[in-house]
Amino acid sequence: MKAARLVRPGAIVIDDIPDPAVGPDDVGIAVGGVGLCGSDLSVFSGKWTAPSYPWVMGHEAFGVIDETGSNVPAERLGQLVVIEPNIVCRSCDQCHRGRTSACVARQSVGMNRQGALAERLVVPSPFAWPIETSTAEDLACVEPTTVVMAALRRLTTPLPDAALVVGVGAQGLLMSVALLERGVAVHAFDVNPERIGFARGLGVQAATVDEGGPRFDLVVDTVGSPSSVVVACRGVQVGGTLLFLGLDDRPLPLTAQGIVRRQMVLQGSLTYDHPIDFEASVATVDRGFNPGRVISDEYTFDEAQRAFERSGSSAGKTWIRVGTERKPS
Ligand SMILES: [Zn+2]
Ligand SMILES: [Zn+2]
Repeated sequence: MKAARLVRPGAIVIDDIPDPAVGPDDVGIAVGGVGLCGSDLSVFSGKWTAPSYPWVMGHEAFGVIDETGSNVPAERLGQLVVIEPNIVCRSCDQCHRGRTSACVARQSVGMNRQGALAERLVVPSPFAWPIETSTAEDLACVEPTTVVMAALRRLTTPLPDAALVVGVGAQGLLMSVALLERGVAVHAFDVNPERIGFARGLGVQAATVDEGGPRFDLVVDTVGSPSSVVVACRGVQVGGTLLFLGLDDRPLPLTAQGIVRRQMVLQGSLTYDHPIDFEASVATVDRGFNPGRVISDEYTFDEAQRAFERSGSSAGKTWIRVGTERKPS
């Protein structure tokens, strides 16, 4: 099969590799398309070191089941599915607690297990979620939508009437449309005016965030950088929640005094828990929610190199169409 492989940081080559073997509990999937996000860009740039080179990247994938393992009902053949790319063990302590996002034996497609930017992908069958036919753009956004929906599910404070989203890259845009869908007015801040322009097209209001500016019961920091948290903290109402989604590893300029005086609730949210969060996001998309609105750029499989090079500076989210004749609706 054809696969887009990272041969060294910054360089993708498309070549033939052996088809992955389908185990008894697995399904084989003809990949239709793959969305790109910040974690893919970290692998591409070498910030996250791939387990080996050449490496197949990509994890936000959908496709059609074209092979079933011996323990998987053959009726699943031909099903349109989205991939839950964090394959968890379902037997460690965290998995038993329901916090599979903290599974000690987690394998992640495209990070430490073969990625989805290939003609075929194999995953254990419970991690291939059947979904009604919807647009390819929506399908490419189901996985990152699950991330933001899981974060909202985990909130310990009620959903407010208005929220501030700091950083409207792909994850911030998805958080914005998920909040809008629930009737929350979304204000957004980003240093990139093109991104704010794109977000406004989705119904988001541009936020002015300065001392004395409006405060919100919920502020979502999708960046997590020393400068984004300054903006985020300014926007938190007394008793409000500051929700972190970004995975920056630098120390933040937060003081205990600032947190205590503002009586802030600090919350972090990592990916999602199996199976409840994918169940919920697939059902939401099946009911007509269109996360694909956040996509601004589409590339063909052969343009994978360009897709990675440009996606960091695009106004919305980027995806790569992989399958040719299997384009859903
Ligand atoms: Zn992602
Ligand atoms: Zn586990």
